Amino acid sequence: MADAAARRERLVEVYRDASVCTRCRLAETRTRVVFGNGNADAGLMFVGEGPGAEEDRQGKPFVGRAGGLLTQLLGEIGFAREDVFVTNVVRCRPPGNRDPQPDEIEACRPWLESTVDLVEPRVIATLGNFATKLLTQNPTGITKVRGTVQVHELGRRTVFLMPLFHPAAALRTPSLLETLRGDFAALPALLERDPQQLARPDEAEPDAPDAAPSGPPADQLGFFG
Ligand code: URA
Repeated sequence: MADAAARRERLVEVYRDASVCTRCRLAETRTRVVFGNGNADAGLMFVGEGPGAEEDRQGKPFVGRAGGLLTQLLGEIGFAREDVFVTNVVRCRPPGNRDPQPDEIEACRPWLESTVDLVEPRVIATLGNFATKLLTQNPTGITKVRGTVQVHELGRRTVFLMPLFHPAAALRTPSLLETLRGDFAALPALLERDPQQLARPDEAEPDAPDAAPSGPPADQLGFFG
């Protein structure tokens, strides 16, 4: 695809279009569209459920308590929020933090697809049931699939998909935290591997490292959003 600078420019255009979106009823009750933010050329993308009250107020994803835990867990594997891209299944807060409805998720899906197309992540970590079911196109719940890496074609991309518990679930049920932490620990090594190779299992993967790399990818663009 286009080089990173061109993709970032296009992402800014998509962000501007999304910020006035009226594709579903959530437009009537939101304060701000929460498009997503982070490194516009990130190898690692997180997809959560939808903005809460604080995200709706600031226009940024994962800035409340769950966001604090996400940032902490990222730090533990050597990444800063600026190294990854973070977005959600829906970009507007469902009133009263109710679940996003299927038609709202469907209406918001093109924004997510454009974001994946333009950021070109190699690994997408889905946080919780909504993102996992949407991106795996499978109704199996997160408790069963968490921590099991999948390979998926999303738009024009082949990506590793890593289903994770939602950080809010780990805050509500502390016994899930160690599981979530363990699943996060698998992400750096996954970033070193090529999902295309796994999609074509007849071709051996050349020397896939099994040790975690020391830090985030070097080729970063500036902070986006
Ligand atoms: N904040 C977000 O942006 N998304 C969630 O899923 C939860 C909190």
